[in-house]
Amino acid sequence: MSNENIAWKYFFPSYLKIANIHSSPSLIHIQMVSETKSAVCPTCGKRSKKVHSTHLRNAQDLPVLDHGVVLNILAKRYFCSNIDCAETVFMEQYDQFMGRYSRYTNRCKDFITRLAIATDAETASKILTSLHIKASGDSLLRYVRSMGDALDLPRVTGIGVDDWALIIPRIGGSSANVMIYQ
Ligand SMILES: [Zn+2]
Repeated sequence: MSNENIAWKYFFPSYLKIANIHSSPSLIHIQMVSETKSAVCPTCGKRSKKVHSTHLRNAQDLPVLDHGVVLNILAKRYFCSNIDCAETVFMEQYDQFMGRYSRYTNRCKDFITRLAIATDAETASKILTSLHIKASGDSLLRYVRSMGDALDLPRVTGIGVDDWALIIPRIGGSSANVMIYQ
């Protein structure tokens, strides 16, 4: 796939250089190389410039043109030079772009979490599959629980049950309506 007409780099942090882009029938793979010169140890907060090694980190991003987008990032590990720190080696972090152990970019995780809240976890998982994003219902439930407060959702002020529906069961079932007040 040619990337001459799309300035792909503007969609990513400047320290992640795009090395190659190629596509399969349903996915676009963007291979990236970390160009950081230093990183902050997440345990002690001290900055280090001493690279230990590299490792491949994969993450899903938002889909485009009916293709899923997968980032294959050659990321760096750094030595922590703080002798009082419990860590001797740590992985560099891209906090504004993706969480420490996340398999999604922040923008992708935000979208799939909002979709799960707007629908339900299992329905969202099926919709995401059609968008070429892999996310199980259980994973989506965890994201909703962990991001719920950060998403600034309207607060529930009350829950009501339509008790008439319990007294007079519907034909073919005995479900009742539950009303949520915001
Ligand atoms: Zn440290």
